[in-house]
Order: sequence, then C-alpha cells, then structure tokens
Amino acid sequence: MNLTPLTANTFLSDGGAMFGLVPKGIWSRMVEADEQNRIRQRAISLLIETEDGKRGLVETGCGDPVWFSDREREMSGLEEEWLLRQSLAEQNLGFEDIDFILLSHAHWDHAGGLTDPEGNPVFPNAEIFLRAAEVECATGGDPLLYKSYPPKIQAAFEQIGDRIFPVPDEDPEVLPGIYLLPAEGHTEGQACISFTRPTLSGCDREVAAAIFTGDNCPTQHHLRMVFQSAYDTYPLKTRAWKRTWFPRCAEEDLLLLFTHDAEAYGAWIQADPKKEYVVTDMYTGDPL
Ligand SMILES: [Zn+2]
Repeated sequence: MNLTPLTANTFLSDGGAMFGLVPKGIWSRMVEADEQNRIRQRAISLLIETEDGKRGLVETGCGDPVWFSDREREMSGLEEEWLLRQSLAEQNLGFEDIDFILLSHAHWDHAGGLTDPEGNPVFPNAEIFLRAAEVECATGGDPLLYKSYPPKIQAAFEQIGDRIFPVPDEDPEVLPGIYLLPAEGHTEGQACISFTRPTLSGCDREVAAAIFTGDNCPTQHHLRMVFQSAYDTYPLKTRAWKRTWFPRCAEEDLLLLFTHDAEAYGAWIQADPKKEYVVTDMYTGDPL
C-alpha cells in the first residue's frame, strides 16, 4: 500500500492546552504562539492506496469551514476553504472516490468532515471504521466528557450509522496490513493505526511499519512523557502508550505519523539520555 499525507485543515489551538503541564517558557521555544496564545496546527489526513486499487483516508479533518459560524471560525482560526478538497483534487480525486475512512477517534478535528450540516455523508461511497470502544464514547452521551463529542458529531453517527463499522480489539486488522490498535489516553476508545510495509509518497526510505499516533503524540514536540495535551481524558494512559510504543519505534525503526504537526507528517526517533526521545529524521512528504 502507499500512503500520501494530506493537509485536511489548518486551525489554531490554545498553546497551553496543547502542552498540558509544560510551562509556556518551555513550549514557546519550540512553537510560536500568536497574541492570543494560540498555535497553528494542521489536521492531517492520510490517503491510503491499497494493492487492489481501493482508496481510503485516515481522518476527515474538521470539515468545510463554511459549515462553521463566523465566531467559531474566528476562534478556531480555520482557513476559508476546505483544504482536504484541494488536497484530494491535487491527487485527481474527489470525495466520491474514497472507499473507506479510518478514524483514530471522533473528536471534531478528526471526524468533523463525515457529514455536512444537513447530515448528508460527505464521502458517499465510504465505509467508516473506528474502534468499537470509540463508537461507545462518541454515542454514549457521558455528561462527563464535556464537549468532547459535540451534537454535530453525535448526529453524524446517527445519520450515517449504517456505514460505520465498529472494530473489535480481538480482530483489529481492517484491511490487509492495516490495524486499528488500542491507544487509550487522549480518549478511552482511541486507536493508533498501524501500516505494515507501506511505501510513502515523497520518500524512498523503506519502512517496516508506520504508526499513526492519534492525539497521543500529535506533533514532533510531544515525544517527552509529560508533553501531552490537556484534552487527554486519561493522561497517565497516554504516557503508558508512549512507554510502550516509543521504544519499539526507536528499536525497530518504525515511522511515527503525526495528527497535528505544522511541519512534519512524521518522524523517526531514537532514545536520548536527557530528552527521553528525539527526532532523527523527519518525513515531510515533499519529494527528496
Ligand atoms: Zn486532534
């Protein structure tokens, strides 16, 4: 299979919320904040092209900015146009060409593009896969998950429920070589998505596996154990996930793929005695 990273949206998030316990004096040396303390992020999608000619996407981004009110757009800093539409057009594809969608989790910036405001599916031919546990989180109506799954996301799950396939943990291989694996932390039902021996657009390096991290490691600046988002529902589980996966990535030369990095789509990492893990090489998606 081949993977092509695409920018679905860019948006602004509060820098403090994106780095949790880390003081601004430290994170602002790595990422520039605007006068409202916000940092620019990408909502990254991956185009998957399988050996048998199917096309899929990981994540849908936030959706079309025209669906949002002026105030919402101003607060979240969304651009004018839906970049995912342009990104797909550059690959000579439209929404109707997508056969399947994999979601790491169902927050607005990952699943927001599933349906338009009238509830019509944006991807008319796509089957949608996410972990069964995340379907429960998104549709369970837990009042403690404050604003995590807004009414629009819940409505999308109702309106296109017949296209949504919950993936059980006992059988996580959704297509040959593509696995939705438990990655609790950012949400209870989150998946990290593993691709066995993919080829990468714009990069000749051979990859044993690439791991799309979900929001357990949204950017290259979240490699340290406590550099984690304040949006994580279970912060200690995010750290446990890093402790499980980062040593594997470093020792087995696996590629980490990010959900929100503004510069890199992914990175190779190695252990570091002072900084825990550091980037050894970045995957930017651009031709070498
Ligand atoms: Zn996110």
